[in-house]
Amino acid sequence: MTAPAPAVFDQVWRGLAKELRSHGLDVKFVEGWKSRGVGDFYPRAMTEHHTGSNRDSGNAPCLGLVTWGTADVGGPLCNILLARDGTIYFVAAGKANHAGIGGPFRGIPENSANTYAIGVEIENDGRGEPYPKRQIEANDILNAVLLERMKRTAYFAFGHKEWTDRKIDPTFDMAAFRKRVRALMKVLGLPQFRVTAKKVVAGKEKSIKVAKRLRKNGWAVTRTKK
Ligand SMILES: [Zn+2]
Repeated sequence: MTAPAPAVFDQVWRGLAKELRSHGLDVKFVEGWKSRGVGDFYPRAMTEHHTGSNRDSGNAPCLGLVTWGTADVGGPLCNILLARDGTIYFVAAGKANHAGIGGPFRGIPENSANTYAIGVEIENDGRGEPYPKRQIEANDILNAVLLERMKRTAYFAFGHKEWTDRKIDPTFDMAAFRKRVRALMKVLGLPQFRVTAKKVVAGKEKSIKVAKRLRKNGWAVTRTKK
């Protein structure tokens, strides 16, 4: 097991659960997540996956699998697992075996996305199962928050299927996903539009629009000062 370097832990993980919860998300921890990892980890991007689990197999059926791995590939197989109901599970703070051979892509050298990207496994069968709205929005917020922490734009959130032709995951549209995350980051990044605040005030039209949409969908979007 290899825990991430303290500087990486501080930037990516410290206070992350609290931050995500402040946006209305549910966060849970897999025991030992802080020290779980398989080598040096310098995350500066996000890689999206779907698990391929049967659509009626429950909320987070792959939790054990992504933590401990398979006979062929040792765990962890992702850093974060996103359950069908939108619950975010912290699986591993360190490097995970999720992307395999592929690239180079988005400035990440060939075959090294595990070292440079945070892997998110999304529970979905990959055969046309619709992604529940809450799950998709939780993923959008998760990506926006982590990209902001890594000081990266939405451009650096990509799918496993973009990293390598071998894969088809995730099944959602990556351009539309990045567009939503980009819009969301404007909300998260602007001090006057922190999602946790008490009151939304006038600002950039786009941010207002995003805040409105999120609030309509049940998220606590309000104004605060950073
Ligand atoms: Zn994948």
